[in-house]
Amino acid sequence: MAGPVEKKKRLGDMLVQEGLLTSKQLDQAVEHQRAKGGRLGDILVEQNHCTEDQILSALAKRAGIPFVSSLSAYGRVSADILSLISGDLARQWGVYPLSREGHRLTVALADPFVELDAVDDLKIHTGYDIAMVLTSGREIQKAVESAYPAETKATDIEGISHSDSGPADIQMVTITNALLGNAAKMGATFIYLEPTPLAVQVRYRIRGQLQKKPNFPLAQYAPLVNHLKGLARMDTADRWLPQDGRVQGVWGGRALDVRVATLPTSNGEKMVLSLFDSSQALPMDLAKLGMDSETLLSYQGFLGASKGLVLVAGPAGSGKTATIYATLAGLQSAEKHILSIEDPIERYVDGITQVQARSDLRLTLASGLQVFRRLAPDVVMASDILDVGTADAAMETAGECLVLSTVTAPDALGAVQKLIEMGVPPSLLADRLMGVLGQRLVRKICSNCREGHTLSLRELMSAGLGEKEIRGAKRAASFSVFRGRGCGQCMATGYDGAAAVFETFPMTDNVRRLVAEKASPALLARETAERVTLREAAMKKVLAGETSVDEALRVH
Ligand SMILES: [Zn+2]
Repeated sequence: MAGPVEKKKRLGDMLVQEGLLTSKQLDQAVEHQRAKGGRLGDILVEQNHCTEDQILSALAKRAGIPFVSSLSAYGRVSADILSLISGDLARQWGVYPLSREGHRLTVALADPFVELDAVDDLKIHTGYDIAMVLTSGREIQKAVESAYPAETKATDIEGISHSDSGPADIQMVTITNALLGNAAKMGATFIYLEPTPLAVQVRYRIRGQLQKKPNFPLAQYAPLVNHLKGLARMDTADRWLPQDGRVQGVWGGRALDVRVATLPTSNGEKMVLSLFDSSQALPMDLAKLGMDSETLLSYQGFLGASKGLVLVAGPAGSGKTATIYATLAGLQSAEKHILSIEDPIERYVDGITQVQARSDLRLTLASGLQVFRRLAPDVVMASDILDVGTADAAMETAGECLVLSTVTAPDALGAVQKLIEMGVPPSLLADRLMGVLGQRLVRKICSNCREGHTLSLRELMSAGLGEKEIRGAKRAASFSVFRGRGCGQCMATGYDGAAAVFETFPMTDNVRRLVAEKASPALLARETAERVTLREAAMKKVLAGETSVDEALRVH
């Protein structure tokens, strides 16, 4: 980047070129600047050689950005946009936010050469691409002073001034409400507060993407941590061990379950707030998960047992969590004593005692189950069976009450195989297992570019589908199916969103005998050939126009 002297020369040369200044006037001004200091532009204005607007307009031209003599043309800037840049930063950098379109934030600044570095900082700070408009320092100052009153300094967390008068705890309540309220309104699922030696970095996770928010002053962080820990019923005195807690409330118009976790770092406690929308995020109703009535009845049959193990199986990311919480909620309405040990707790269900596993305290899923057995539960949940220790504890507990858990496996039959591979005695599994619900996600066809086509039975079969899979859904010689052509709305994928497909694996007497005998998966599949498999469930969604043949073929 050019040095300051060179830049000033350039400004002068430009003004001479534009015919606004003679070379002699420029030399005088530069001489004056050498002797007394100050900015060349200011000197030129002072000596009545140019108006300020002429100088700024030349600067803008040089920088290739628009010049405006007055910011009033932009009208009143919404609080939403103002909050993207704190008052402190607006003053420090001499910038003022004006408008926002999509991913671009337009800011006014007073000196394009000096502030070019600030633009990169602004980009990082706000997460927006920055478009610049040049105006006078006076205009910036006027706008900043009126938008960010001096006595309420940094609005680092949107809408909150850290120097609000009043007791510190009231201030912390306000900050907490602003933090959670903004996150809720933006649809954030996580808030990360990460102390660094200089400030506290604040980031939101919105639709999977991290978004940086204005930093939070370090001086206010300890009281905020204490406040949040108090709210979440955590030990405020302990700053050296990871902790977690929970708080519920309404923020930003959403009823939220907030899980608060702390992690000690060399700069202080990092905090992670997970936001769960208790009103709508997961359907807490089995009937709303999208199971067909046959599968739902079969699954509810498993859950009707007074003891035994019921498993939900699927690959990672197949929606098992949604299913298991909906199941818990459904069981809870039957007024049973339900205890749950989870790692991590991903949803809170009213009326159920949920315990977070803490390996640092030797409270594992397995040891949690052992503790639960002494508390005479009707139903117990362990979030997942990952190892033989948990599997053994689940089997043991299933001899006394109903145990619900998940297994990461391709499908229902895969879960049975996996438990046996883990070392669960086949005869014990055959005795205790009530049934397995298998599930997968299929992508839904984009409604914007959906198009129909017809495939014959032969064509479907040559695509890789079995006759039973097709006929199980419908008897016909040809089938109208759909696919997404690909459009801007679905990023040319042809898909938008996902739906779960389900299967059940019931433990009939014959199946129990085969499991006890450690029969091959093929034999078990043949024995249960009558059930609706994942592929068949997916095929039903194909014929209902929800998903494509290609998606159904991915389910096997
Ligand atoms: Zn589309």
